Amino acid sequence: MITILNLKGLRINERNHLEIGGCDCVDLVQQYGTPLYVMDEDVIRNNCRTYKKALDKYYSGDGMVLYASKAFCTLAICRIAAQEGLGLDVVSGGELYTAKMARFPMDRVYFHGNNKTPEELKMAVELGVRRIVVDNAEELEVLDFIASECGRITEISFRIKPGIDTHTHEYIKTGKVDSKFGISMENGEAFDAVKAALAMKNVRLVGFHCHIGSQIFDIEPFKLAARVMLDFISEIKTRFGFEAQELNLGGGFGVRYVEGDESVDYDEFIKEVAAVVEDICKDRQISLPFLVLEPGRSIVAPAGITLYTVGNVREIKDVRKYVSIDGGMTDNPRYALYRAKYEILLANRSCDEPCEKVTVAGKCCESGDIIAKDVMLPRVKRGDILAVLTTGAYNYSMSSNYNRLPRPAVVLVKDGKSRIIVKRESYDDIIRNDVLPEDL
Ligand SMILES: *Cc1c(COP(=O)(O)O)cnc(C)c1O
Repeated sequence: MITILNLKGLRINERNHLEIGGCDCVDLVQQYGTPLYVMDEDVIRNNCRTYKKALDKYYSGDGMVLYASKAFCTLAICRIAAQEGLGLDVVSGGELYTAKMARFPMDRVYFHGNNKTPEELKMAVELGVRRIVVDNAEELEVLDFIASECGRITEISFRIKPGIDTHTHEYIKTGKVDSKFGISMENGEAFDAVKAALAMKNVRLVGFHCHIGSQIFDIEPFKLAARVMLDFISEIKTRFGFEAQELNLGGGFGVRYVEGDESVDYDEFIKEVAAVVEDICKDRQISLPFLVLEPGRSIVAPAGITLYTVGNVREIKDVRKYVSIDGGMTDNPRYALYRAKYEILLANRSCDEPCEKVTVAGKCCESGDIIAKDVMLPRVKRGDILAVLTTGAYNYSMSSNYNRLPRPAVVLVKDGKSRIIVKRESYDDIIRNDVLPEDL
């Protein structure tokens, strides 16, 4: 059985080749070389629209869907998100700079991060981002000072730890979450921070944010987070007479990587979360907040594939068969980091029946440099083209130059046409910042 996970935009054509966005992968490889990231523009745009439409349709208050750019951050994707009417979640000066250079509207940019540097905060204040999501009390102090230096009043929200732990599919409400992100509700920290913010002159508190995790398939933790956050907002209103205008429930919606994974109906997710928010607001007599959601992975992961050329194929008798590719943990570190699983197929002989179990290994000097362990493939030989599916998120954005491997190009495909959105790095790029001191 050949599975392509019912991924939109992918099909196997008459030449027995994998096709993405109407482009034959073998042709793409001939034109651009390997390793190659390929992203399907229609899939990205459709995913943006699904979220935006669902929020517009099901939530009677106002709101905004932000694309969490850390999943895949380049000029082109920022431009697409802007065109689709999404906002942008950035977590560093580099991501913010990318947004700026893509001319992303700053009044739709949210700046996150658990340790923003003073320089990054200054940059965000000066660029006039819509919201700085303050992580902790110390950052609040620093930001108030920076905002005063810049002569600007900056609108903020607080990142709150709602005390919800998501463990794969199970969730448990924990007394206290050990996390480097955000301020805690249980120990009163959050109340102190709100009090401090309300007394400040250069920051204006607008609302609250939480992000309970990533790759979550179950709707219940999101509903619970909404409940906990709205209870908190209600409590803050009682204590301080301050009613938050914004509730940001973060991202983390699950993505199907392999056959065994569930698939998530994002439309239904938003519908249920919106209903919970409306119910609780009515119950607590608080006005409907501006509702923000921040999907990253689920927008870009299913849109991307990575193409590799097979090199050495070697069988270690009675142990396993290794298929080596011309990339690896440098362009996809997710197996090394999380033992992440991927669906893999032969892009040049896509209908051939899988008949042997192999381990796909990268070319880096690390035994952990694996892309997939024990996957079924047709008999693979040198020169074949492997396609790893669902690599649109946290692959390019986590890539490195380990072993001085140049980063692959990224190609955007649509209606049978392809465009480069990130150039392949050259060896000169690799040594670009190296300096040979004259006296050396
Ligand atoms: C990572 C992150 C997201 C996006 O998470 P996904 O799993 O990619 O949807 C959203 N918000 C915040 C604050 C994050 O850190």
